[in-house]
Amino acid sequence: MKHFDQSGAPGFYLETYGCQMNVADSQVVAGVLSRAGCRRVERPQDADFVLLNTCAIRERAETRVLARLSELAGLKSRRPGLKLGLLGCMAQHNRARLVQKAPYLDLVVGPDGYRRLPELLGHDGFDPAVEVRLNRLETYEDIEPVPEDRVRAYVTVMRGCDRFCAFCVVPYVRGRERSLAPQSVTNEVRRLAALGVKEVILLGQTVNAYRYGTTDFAALLRAVAAVDGIARIRFTSPHPLEMTERLIEVMATEPKVQPYLHLPVQSGSNRVLEMMGRGHTAEQYLDLVGRLRRAVAGLALSTDIIVGFHGEAEQDFAATLALLRAVRFDAAFTFKYSRREHTRAFGWGDTVPEDEKSARLAEVIALQEVIALERNRELVGSAVPVLVEGQARRGGALLTGKTPQFKTAVFAPLMPVAAGDTIAARVCSATSHTLICDQLVGEPGRQGLASAS
Ligand code: SF4
Repeated sequence: MKHFDQSGAPGFYLETYGCQMNVADSQVVAGVLSRAGCRRVERPQDADFVLLNTCAIRERAETRVLARLSELAGLKSRRPGLKLGLLGCMAQHNRARLVQKAPYLDLVVGPDGYRRLPELLGHDGFDPAVEVRLNRLETYEDIEPVPEDRVRAYVTVMRGCDRFCAFCVVPYVRGRERSLAPQSVTNEVRRLAALGVKEVILLGQTVNAYRYGTTDFAALLRAVAAVDGIARIRFTSPHPLEMTERLIEVMATEPKVQPYLHLPVQSGSNRVLEMMGRGHTAEQYLDLVGRLRRAVAGLALSTDIIVGFHGEAEQDFAATLALLRAVRFDAAFTFKYSRREHTRAFGWGDTVPEDEKSARLAEVIALQEVIALERNRELVGSAVPVLVEGQARRGGALLTGKTPQFKTAVFAPLMPVAAGDTIAARVCSATSHTLICDQLVGEPGRQGLASAS
């Protein structure tokens, strides 16, 4: 592996698009480049290498990245020595088209190629350096990611996905499932705890499909919970079919595992769920939600919904609205179906016109806003422990943090409070996205909530 000279350490600028897996991968990229003697810079103007870590899940994400790339091409034309690289799922998915559309790219590297970045950045050819081989064994186990946040950090525990849902490009761009050794995971969590991190989010494309030898995800969670210094543990994204009783029991009994679950459902229609290849019905999903809520006190749930999937008829969409009403999620991430090349559904075509997709999306969002507001208002008057992150976006003296249910809380501090502290607060009022709180004097409990379920 080529290493750069430490004295004139080259600067890299890294921008991240897409999901938490990409955020975690950017930390791996920063780890690889730091190990090779590079330093991170905050502005592309100050960089020797500008890298975009991209997402291919939806067409819109790609359009955004292409627009950003052409902006950066202007910078490159003023500074010909600058190297411009595209990393991540979009690089993996579309390398040929990308190289054609953005001929000024110096490198194109997929999610399993980051180990070779120092070498590829040293490449001086006319054609871009391309590394898009998928590697069934690559877990970056030995790379120390560079966390950007000292309160909450992501820890990747598995990569890839074997499920091949009909709409999803992930198995094609991130490859098949592989898990990190439990020892590597706990070592990483210990390292983060020593850096002062208070909360870890265990990550995987289907995180609860984690398996290493005889260690399943439930056992991994217990092992992570045994690490001193870490106060809160979450994980994302689980697949409903992998929510075992053992895992539910760990969620119910391990105090560090927080009462929040992002549980993608995608649709409320059995016909659509079957076409998508999700492997469960709406009734089975509702049954799982019931078991989770009975087991885990104060559990908050969020989900992903796709509207306008191939063949989604009015009654299918109505079933999705009915499921939203039945579950009453605390939050939902809603998307219009976007056909992706290489997926099974790509060849089936788009049957729902764009304006109908937009109308369905608006309806689903409007319903969810009402439900989220109702659920948050149910918390008014209750006490919540808030892990403080820093200043609230709207500024002033307000601070912000997260409750165990991963709800955003804002409050005016009564006394000096630092990021990473957990304070007790009382919910005074709520919007659909935020709890407005008063700080309380006293020790915060684990839940601090009347049951929100
Ligand atoms: S479970 Fe389905 S939606 Fe999730 S990453 Fe795998 S293929 Fe994609």
